[in-house]
Amino acid sequence: MRCPNCGERETRVVDSRDLDESATIRRRRECAACSMRFTTYERVEAARLVVVKRDGARQEFDRERLVSGLRKALTRRPVPDAAAELAADAIEAELRAAGMTEVPSSRIGAMAMEQLRGIDQIAYIRFASVYQSFEDLEDLKREVDTLFAERGEDSDIVAIDVRGTGAKRTRA
Ligand SMILES: [Zn+2]
Repeated sequence: MRCPNCGERETRVVDSRDLDESATIRRRRECAACSMRFTTYERVEAARLVVVKRDGARQEFDRERLVSGLRKALTRRPVPDAAAELAADAIEAELRAAGMTEVPSSRIGAMAMEQLRGIDQIAYIRFASVYQSFEDLEDLKREVDTLFAERGEDSDIVAIDVRGTGAKRTRA
């Protein structure tokens, strides 16, 4: 911290005090060169996170809106009530950890799909069909096929018995 009087860089802290319930620290400093005393305030910067939409419009990141989008996709799926909140937390934490201040809405959409994919595949398809707006049924089928392919060998796959005994669960 440069001395406001002589420009010296070396200063000594002579007193530190918490203000605003420790949200701010007030420091009294003394210049090593001219001995002038001055005060600095240190507080955590509330980092802004701005979402850049496809049309270039910018708006403050709205966590609640993300949660409601996730919740809508997860409606009536067998997942914990907090699933949407936790997914939104994970997305926000990842964005903030990356130190981003501006993020394209498409990236948030992709992260939401990634989260849903790990939570519930039906919710993922719901969200993706709205968000990615599959061109046609073929497009949707490809995505579903990919999910099936990724389920691997140890998961249950529903097989349809075409002779009329209905669906039954079989081990793949
Ligand atoms: Zn000075």
